[in-house]
Amino acid sequence: MTPTETNNKHNSPNPLLSLDYEPALESLGDDYYDEVAGAEFPQDILRWRNDDLLSQLGLDPKQVRDEHFIEAFGKLQGVRPFLALRYHGYQFGTYNPQLGDGRGFLYGQVRGMDGELYDLGTKGSGRTPYSRSADGRLTLKGGVREVLAAEALHRLGVCTSRCLSMVETGEQLWRGDEPSPTRSSVMVRFSRSHIRFGTFERLRYFERTDLIEKLLDHVIDIYYPPHPPLVIKESAADRYLRFYEELVQRVAALVAQWMAAGFCHGVLNTDNMSITGESFDYGPYAFIPHYNPNFTAAYFDYYGRYSYGNQSQICKWNLEMLQVALSKVIPAAEMDSILARFDEYYQSSYRELMMKRLGLESGGKAEELLKLTIEVLKDTQVGYQQFFMALSEEFEPSWRDDAEHIPNFASAIPWEKWRRLYQGVLQSLPAAEMDNVASRLEKYNPKTVLLRPAIESVWEQIVASDNWQPFYQLVQDIKE
Ligand code: AMP
Ligand code: MG
Repeated sequence: MTPTETNNKHNSPNPLLSLDYEPALESLGDDYYDEVAGAEFPQDILRWRNDDLLSQLGLDPKQVRDEHFIEAFGKLQGVRPFLALRYHGYQFGTYNPQLGDGRGFLYGQVRGMDGELYDLGTKGSGRTPYSRSADGRLTLKGGVREVLAAEALHRLGVCTSRCLSMVETGEQLWRGDEPSPTRSSVMVRFSRSHIRFGTFERLRYFERTDLIEKLLDHVIDIYYPPHPPLVIKESAADRYLRFYEELVQRVAALVAQWMAAGFCHGVLNTDNMSITGESFDYGPYAFIPHYNPNFTAAYFDYYGRYSYGNQSQICKWNLEMLQVALSKVIPAAEMDSILARFDEYYQSSYRELMMKRLGLESGGKAEELLKLTIEVLKDTQVGYQQFFMALSEEFEPSWRDDAEHIPNFASAIPWEKWRRLYQGVLQSLPAAEMDNVASRLEKYNPKTVLLRPAIESVWEQIVASDNWQPFYQLVQDIKE
């Protein structure tokens, strides 16, 4: 049988099973994965389906019934072999050659309506050769948290994976960081790719330059097509360098998106860094309540390696480690000089995004306003998310004429200075620009933010009375 035949489900009446799955990664051969089966679960209750993504896959949500989701993503036995991907990674700075998909696998790859290839990847679907002593499961709370993170980040304009479905699977799990026993789930993630920095690091570890080159070609073909003006055929060396440069730019832009969103990923190990520069894998993440560079999200991040303010330097370090894996194929010195521009790429993306959250465009007094905004948010500890929410909700064109109309976020002296400067910037724009300021504020500042107490409160209602309404409401609110 050809890979296409094995991977394409026969003409199933289930639209999710009859999607045109493409065995893109599978066709590279089994050096990159192990074939695995999904676990059998005592129960399958659909708790979340993402209809926005169905449309992206060209499916009409009305034609896809809940039972279809359960059949496709809750009953994983016997559908077809799935691929547990092999990878290593630097975890908290230490190389770990004992990683790999331990509780998930590549379910399938499929084209979106935009013509791009997407991965459907599971989390919590059972044990694999990489589970070590762990159970291969995902807690229901972990599933709920990942659905919420992805939707909130998507609303904030972050380039992120999202969750297509979450099925509660009826097992009791034991976890040190949740009151146990706790409920179980299988989540299906929709992302650009599950190829990680760590996928390449593993190939270097085994000194398989041939496999690095093959995978790199695959990644470039699918995820790094040349930009349209590039008409001349690139040499292989140029292609590889352009790839690394674009990856560095994408990662710098991603960190800027997290920072502007006030998001702390929590575990930026190299196995959690996608080779496409997309954000994914939301474990102990948190949105910062107040501006604090030292804020950490993971309780086990004792030294603040992955603190909010450290994210750009850590991602830069991860890109540097990736150079080691790529250096047999791409000249190290050239990668180094590309990486040297990381901070510059990051700063300019960050500045642009923060100005948008302030309703403005870069230029003029932007630099000064951004600096002062961060300074007062840090000094007065006004809520980071609430500040942008209030700015967007209360904005009036009259602020341009009278600073007294600008809300006093805290009756502290620094805010007086901030109000005057913000008014000054508004005055430097034509009056007709105020409508654009208002629409930018609305676009870049969601009306609901995903702080931890909001997640906990949703979870408590699920635990106390199996009431899922607050969860659905929160997902809805996040999109506003
Ligand atoms: P994460 O912290 O979720 O990024 O996972 C790090 C590594 O541990 C990955 O290789 C996971 O597949 C593995 N892992 C995490 N939790 C489990 C689990 N409950 N069972 C098996 N493997 C796991
Ligand atoms: Mg991970």
